[in-house]
Amino acid sequence: MEKLIQTILELDNPLIISGRPLLNKIIKSLSEKRKLVKASFRTFQDVIHDLIGAYTVDARLELARAEGISSELAAIKLENSLIVSSAYQNAKIHDLLRIRNKYGSYLKLNPLAQKLYENRPVLLVAEFEVSDHFFKALEIIKTKTNIINYRFENKEKPQTILEFSHYKEEIDYLVQEVGKLLDSGLSPEKIKIQSVPEHYLPYLKEAFLLADIALDTNENSSLFTYEIVQKFLTELKIYFEEEAELAFPKALASISMEDEITSDLVRVLNLYMSSSRVVKELYQDLIYQLKISFPKRNLYTNIIQISDYQNEYLTSEDVVFILGFNQDLFPKTLRDDQFLLDYEREKLGLLTSREKNQIVKKQTLALLYGKAKSHLSYASDHQGLQIPLSSLSNLLQDVSIEKAERGGVSYAPELDQIRLGKLLDLYYRYSETSSDLFSLYATWPDLSYRSYSHKFTGISVDDLSPLLKRRLSYTAIDQYYRCGFLYYLERVLNIKRSQNSDALFVGNFFHNALEALLKAEGIDNLEEFLKTVITDFLKENDKVPTAKEKFFIGKYLEVLIRFYNYLEEEKESSELKTYALEKHFSIPLKNGFTFEGKIDKILTYNYQGEDYFVVLDYKSGNAEVDLNMIIYGLSMQIPIYFYLLKHSGIKFKFGGGYLQKVIPNTVFGRDLKYTYEEQFRRYFRKVGYSPDNIALLEKIDLNYGNQMSTLHGIRITKSGFHANSLKYLLSEEVFQEILTVVAEKIEEALANISQGEFPINPKLTNKFDSCMYCPYRDLCFRDERDYLRLNEFKNLEFLRRKDDTKET
Ligand code: SF4
Repeated sequence: MEKLIQTILELDNPLIISGRPLLNKIIKSLSEKRKLVKASFRTFQDVIHDLIGAYTVDARLELARAEGISSELAAIKLENSLIVSSAYQNAKIHDLLRIRNKYGSYLKLNPLAQKLYENRPVLLVAEFEVSDHFFKALEIIKTKTNIINYRFENKEKPQTILEFSHYKEEIDYLVQEVGKLLDSGLSPEKIKIQSVPEHYLPYLKEAFLLADIALDTNENSSLFTYEIVQKFLTELKIYFEEEAELAFPKALASISMEDEITSDLVRVLNLYMSSSRVVKELYQDLIYQLKISFPKRNLYTNIIQISDYQNEYLTSEDVVFILGFNQDLFPKTLRDDQFLLDYEREKLGLLTSREKNQIVKKQTLALLYGKAKSHLSYASDHQGLQIPLSSLSNLLQDVSIEKAERGGVSYAPELDQIRLGKLLDLYYRYSETSSDLFSLYATWPDLSYRSYSHKFTGISVDDLSPLLKRRLSYTAIDQYYRCGFLYYLERVLNIKRSQNSDALFVGNFFHNALEALLKAEGIDNLEEFLKTVITDFLKENDKVPTAKEKFFIGKYLEVLIRFYNYLEEEKESSELKTYALEKHFSIPLKNGFTFEGKIDKILTYNYQGEDYFVVLDYKSGNAEVDLNMIIYGLSMQIPIYFYLLKHSGIKFKFGGGYLQKVIPNTVFGRDLKYTYEEQFRRYFRKVGYSPDNIALLEKIDLNYGNQMSTLHGIRITKSGFHANSLKYLLSEEVFQEILTVVAEKIEEALANISQGEFPINPKLTNKFDSCMYCPYRDLCFRDERDYLRLNEFKNLEFLRRKDDTKET
C-alpha cells in the first residue's frame, strides 16, 4: 500500500479507479499521511456510468411492450446494445444496433462526466474486472489519456490444500481454525472467509452459531421476497387502471411506512414516477425491478465476514480461508452461454469466455500469492455430487495436498457432540468406526446420546396450534395417509423441497391452456386460439421459455388440439351436460377446519326424473383410481369430490367418477394393433368407476363396451359384462357405503392432525410405495421397519369384512 500511495503522490492530479473497499483504504491511507492530494476516485461501476451510461426503466418498458417480450429479456437486449458495434453484423447484432438507435433517447449519459477522464493520468488499481461494460469503458479512456495499470506485488509461495471427504467436515475444520485464531487474540476483522458456494451457507451458519462465533454472511434477498412488498403488490392490483403516480401512494397506505424495507421500495417506485403509465402497463416490469433490487444492508464491524476478497487489499495480518477449492466452484468457470456468444465477441473485439476465465485465474492467484495468509481447502462430496479439485491447483508452483488432522482442543463443543452423535448412529446401526469416533468419544465419554431412534416423538398442542393451517383438501388428506411425517414436514413445518421446476412449469402451462380451451365457446381457429393463450400465459408469468421448453410447448399444442377434437367427438356419443368447470368448494368441518376442493369438470344427466352427477379430473401423466385403497385413506380423489358435492347441498345420484389423462409422459411405443390416432384415443379414455346399470352407461357413452368407447376397462360379452369389467362398476348402495368410509377417513385424519399425530408411517403394497418419490428421506431417516405393509383388497371386499383392514 505504501508504494501505491507513493505512486499516487507522484502523479499530477490522477484519477484513481478501483473497487469500493480498496478506494476506501486508499483514501484512509492518504488522510493518515496528512497530505493534501489533488486526485479523483471512481469505482468500476462509476466508470461504466460515466462513459457507457444506463438506460432508464422507460426504455425497458417500451422495448418489452413493442416486442411483446419479458422485462428480463428487454433488459438483456438493452445491456448488450451498449457493447456492440458495427464492426461485425449478423441478425442479432443488427437488432441490438437498431435498439440502441431507437431507444438512445432513454440513455442516461452525462457528457460532463467524460471530461473527468481527459488530460490526466488514470491509475487502475488491482483491476481484474470481467464486465463487458467496463472493458468498453476502458477502450474509451484509452482514446483520451494514458492508463497506468497498478497491481500489488505478490510472490509465489508454497500452498497447502487441505482435503476433506465432505463439505460439512470442511466447515467443521474451519470453525476449529477460526476458534484457534480468536483464542490467540487475532481480531475477528482480520479473519476473512472468501465467498462460499451457496450450499455451504446453511451448515456454515449453523456451525458458527453452535460455536458461538458471530459471522456476517453478506446474504441479501431481493426486495421482491419481502412479505411487505408482496402485500404492496397485491394491493396495487386494485388500482390496475389508474396512473402509477396516483396508484402508488394508495397502495403504500396499506403497508407500514415505518418498516425499513418500505424506504427501499419507495426508492424503486420513484423510478416509475416520471412515466405517466397506468399500473397495468408497468406491473410486470415493477416485479422484475423488485427482483433485481436489494435492500441496503447493515454493516457490522468487528465481525468475521464472508465476502469476495479478490478485489481487496489484504495485509500480512489478514488470514483468508478459501473453502470449496473445487472445479467450477472456486474459481468459477464462465461458459460460452451469454447473450453474445464467443464467435460474435471475437469479431466485435469483446472479451470471450476464455479470456474472462484467464482474468479470473489471475485474480485468484493474486489472492493466493498476496500478503495475507491463505488457507485453501476442498471437499469431494457436495450433497452427493463428487466434484474434483480445481484445475487451478495445477498452476500453483509449490503445492501439497494433505488430509486435515483434528486438533485436540474443541472450539465448538455442541458441534462436536452432534458430530459424535452422528458417528455413534453409524456405529450402532452399521458397526462403523473411525478415528474421529474414538477421539470424540474420548473427549465426551458422558454424552447422554446413546441410542438411535428417528421416531417422531410428538409436538405439544400449544406449539402445534399456531402452526396448523386449518384447511384440508384431497391432496392434504392423501399426503397425511401416505405418511403422517410427510404431512408434518410440508404442511406444519412448511418445509418445501423444490420439485422439478421444468415439470411444474409444463404442468401449469398445460392446465392453463386446457382450462381456456374448455371454457371457450365457438372457437374458429383452434391453433391460433391456443397460440394466443400460450403467449398470454408466458407473458403473465414473465417467462422466456428455454429451447427445451419451446420444444415441449410445440408438442403439447399438438396434444391439446387432439384432445379438443376428442372431446368434441365424445359429445356426439353421450348425453352428458356440463354442470360446472373448475368449481371450487369449501365445506366447514369440526375444530374450525374447512375442507376445500376444486373439481375440474362436473357433468350431469337425467334418468327417470332423477339427476345423476359425473365428476372428472384431468391428469398429466399416469392416472389410476383404486377404490380398494380408500380404507387406508388413499386413492380417495373421486369419492372426495362426491363428498364435496353432497356436503354443499347438491342432491344427486352416482353417475360416474373418472380421471382423464391428457399429457402422455412418454412417446407411444409402436403397437401393431392400433394406429397412432387410435393410440391417442385409447390414452384419452376416462379411467374410473361407472354405475352398474346399462341404461345409465348408455347416457355416459353410447359406445360403452366396444372399441370406440370413451370408458377404460368396460367390456361386454354375449352374456353381459366381462368379469374384469365388474371392478369398474358400482351400484348406488355400494357408492353410498364408500361415501360413508370417506367421511370417516376425513374425520379420522382431522382428529389425528389436530392432536399432533404425525408418525413416520409410510405405506407399502406390491404396487404402491409412499417413499418412492418423497424428497425427505434425509430428514425422516426412515428404514424398512417404518413401512406399514397393507393388505390388498379386491372388489371392495373390506365393505363386508371391516375387521380385516388391519395394517401390518
Ligand atoms: S421418505 Fe417416506 S417415511 Fe420419510 S417422510 Fe417421505 S414418505 Fe415419510
